[in-house]
Amino acid sequence: MVQGMRPVVYNIPVHLVPTYRGRAILVRSQDPTALVHALPDSDLETLVSVQLLTLTADIDVLADWGYGVPLDLIMRSPDTEFPLLYRHAKLLDKHPIRVSIPARPELFKAVKVASALRFPVKLEVGQPDSVAIEALQAVLDFYLHHPSVSQPVEFFHTALLSFYHQTPVPLWDIQEDDPAYVRYVTDDGQETIARHPVGIRVTGDLGCFVAHLQQELLAERGECGTCEFFAYCGGYFKWPRKDYGCSGVKTLFRALRDASAALRHDLNTFTVAMKGTGR
Ligand code: SF4
Repeated sequence: MVQGMRPVVYNIPVHLVPTYRGRAILVRSQDPTALVHALPDSDLETLVSVQLLTLTADIDVLADWGYGVPLDLIMRSPDTEFPLLYRHAKLLDKHPIRVSIPARPELFKAVKVASALRFPVKLEVGQPDSVAIEALQAVLDFYLHHPSVSQPVEFFHTALLSFYHQTPVPLWDIQEDDPAYVRYVTDDGQETIARHPVGIRVTGDLGCFVAHLQQELLAERGECGTCEFFAYCGGYFKWPRKDYGCSGVKTLFRALRDASAALRHDLNTFTVAMKGTGR
């Protein structure tokens, strides 16, 4: 199934691998052994990535499996689970690894550990409350200014680049949550939106879900209609609750935009200085 040139990726539970054979899949499980059994090397061609839904599983089996299969570690409680990241570092030799961390008040420590271990991070931002916004601001400051951060922290990384290049990439895309391109298939086989909180069943044409939501948001002449960041956000923070207030998340966009402007300024100054030296 193809929307435009982009194939739809299906986020499926491991028991549905036979049903989705031949399609682009992202396979999730609590059990690494189940993943390895369901996905022999011959089946890896259409595999986009695997999601490990727990950080306490025995992962040795993954060290001997496939090669270069992107692995997404799903963290639920950053305050208690951050020490569990260390035991996954040995898999980096074999697979690209990313850690998905929910935007909870305690996320900063988890991001620092992930970053020290050289894991890229995806922040599951949802609709953050004021305490989570503060934590996100701390993470953004760390990402922008700490010299040891060598791996992307999303959505900050791609948003910064898109501000820098002035080519907006909506958050729906950065967060891999637009159901036109990524479908979450529930354990009982129903297709819906991948975005957390998983379990909200979206019906109707999933290919047009984001476009319809954006039309509604703009027609209602609410906060999105006058938002300077609409092209970079796409109304992402107005779902599932449309009455979510965006003053906090706008501080994040503003900081990213300012950082991109500073970056451009630094680069221009550097270029002029190099010309002055004749190099
Ligand atoms: S930041 Fe809020 S108001 Fe602005 S586009 Fe996103 S959801 Fe709409």
